[in-house]
Amino acid sequence: MVKAISLLSGGLDSILATRLILEQGIEVEAVNFLTVFCTCTPRGKGCSSGKSAADKLGIKLKVFEVSKEYFGIVKNPRYGYGSNINPCLDCRIFMFKKAAQYMREIDASFLITGEVLGQRPMSQRRDAMRIVERDSKLDGLILRPLSARLLEPTIPEKEGIVDRERLLDIKGRSRKPQIELARQLGIGDYPCPAGGCLLTDPGFANRMRDLIEHKPDFTMNDVRLLKVGRHFRVSPKTKFIVGRNKEENEKLTSLAGGEDFRFGPAKVKGPVGIGRGNFNKEHFSIASSIIARYSDKDQDCEIEVLYEKIPGEGHNSIMALSITEETLEALRI
Ligand code: SF4
Repeated sequence: MVKAISLLSGGLDSILATRLILEQGIEVEAVNFLTVFCTCTPRGKGCSSGKSAADKLGIKLKVFEVSKEYFGIVKNPRYGYGSNINPCLDCRIFMFKKAAQYMREIDASFLITGEVLGQRPMSQRRDAMRIVERDSKLDGLILRPLSARLLEPTIPEKEGIVDRERLLDIKGRSRKPQIELARQLGIGDYPCPAGGCLLTDPGFANRMRDLIEHKPDFTMNDVRLLKVGRHFRVSPKTKFIVGRNKEENEKLTSLAGGEDFRFGPAKVKGPVGIGRGNFNKEHFSIASSIIARYSDKDQDCEIEVLYEKIPGEGHNSIMALSITEETLEALRI
């Protein structure tokens, strides 16, 4: 039996594309790529929307955790970034190469994606699609069932494995044709629209750019930290992060490593602060004044702020007034 691999994000387009091929009696196995930048990923459970989509389609799913390999692409993408820090073209090439490897391993014949011609500015233009095919060495092997009739026939279409007449000619950014098709196919409940990617988020992109600039050899922990709290660049080698609520305070505490400083107010309620990098006297003072700014106290009162490196091994104390709003904004990432 002919087998195909579907790049299944769990978004509606990839579900529809997979269904169209399943309806032609072709066996489909799904692959899903997980990185620290995915937003639809409950901790430790993989991509929930990819998993539930595969379950509903009744097909097998293979998940690849690729965060570390992916860092190189985010730092230095050959084809540059989209409107934020999303290296979509390089990202697609990377994922197709991985999927192609798996396709060969399980003896599948071609790949399917839910891409729609003209839907996304960077990776779903006709010329971009060709670049992806060429660079991933998959000429003629990437079938896009939703737009296939607007594109060159692929090898499975030419060989009659897939009936081109039963594929579609959807293009552009409107979601109406897909929603109508979902209705016709009885597909409801598609929770995470395609594109649950932090690299397209302007706020996260700023933090990521700052990290790449100041710590190009960043770790997974550094990236995880970018998702939590308020971030401040105190000096080129000094960063300070403050929790916005109890949950973030706990998360920051759990992410702090042996080289980090932990800050907090001594006698009033206030946030946890994590200092990462090289701290001198001035940096301790700035960090403490940021803690004071977000603590429960009268506007002009000084408070005592404690900081320590190794929990339980003794802390230092510093008296701090709130940092001025102007200075705070100048430091904010
Ligand atoms: S939005 Fe994110 S996951 Fe999607 S192609 Fe772009 S970089 Fe890759």
